[in-house]
Amino acid sequence: MKVYAMTKKYIVLFGPPGVGKGTQSKRLEKYTGHPHISTGDIFREHIKKKTKLGREVLDYIHAGKLVPDEVTIRLVAHRLDQHDARNGFILDGFPRSVSQAKALEEILANLNEQIDIIIDLYAPDDVIKMRLRRRAKYMGRIDDANPEIIDKRIETYHKQSEPCLEYFRKQDDLVIDLDGSGEICDIHETIKNLIR
Ligand code: ADP
Repeated sequence: MKVYAMTKKYIVLFGPPGVGKGTQSKRLEKYTGHPHISTGDIFREHIKKKTKLGREVLDYIHAGKLVPDEVTIRLVAHRLDQHDARNGFILDGFPRSVSQAKALEEILANLNEQIDIIIDLYAPDDVIKMRLRRRAKYMGRIDDANPEIIDKRIETYHKQSEPCLEYFRKQDDLVIDLDGSGEICDIHETIKNLIR
């Protein structure tokens, strides 16, 4: 039997706010050449440019709530339809609900593809709270600056996003859990080995 080296290309980084999805995604983008697609970054860009979408999502984001699924799903479907995402992507911050999970599966099924791997970066709530407070200082993100909003985002994660992970766990070997409280470089090395 011949064994083919397989590279995973439809990659999802999952985990609570502040766990390091963005940092790892950027490194993976460089390593794989697949685009890093962060729904949070896209929303913030729209807010900055004061677009219609930006105005639509502002209140949700600043309250630590999820943007409604229909809005987020439409945005991601459109982004994944762009040429650069056709042969692979690194999704960061999507899916974050069971409906979003199902929508992503559908988008890929239409291309005769499927999610290759979901990397679940986990860390205790007190670790991520500390990181978010630190990030508030240098990134100037309004949703990091206020302890109540941070608590709300963590609560939203447990209530709405964790069920999405449980949904994916029903599929064998799709979700890989990885300790996000380790060193950035070590986590990157581990992820590289997982997708090779
Ligand atoms: P973090 O992971 O640190 O919370 P993000 O940049 O991923 O930061 O997201 C910031 C905010 O953008 C979220 O709190 C939420 O309001 C909104 N958002 C991002 N991704 C989604 C999504 N998939 N569905 C709904 N809302 C989202």
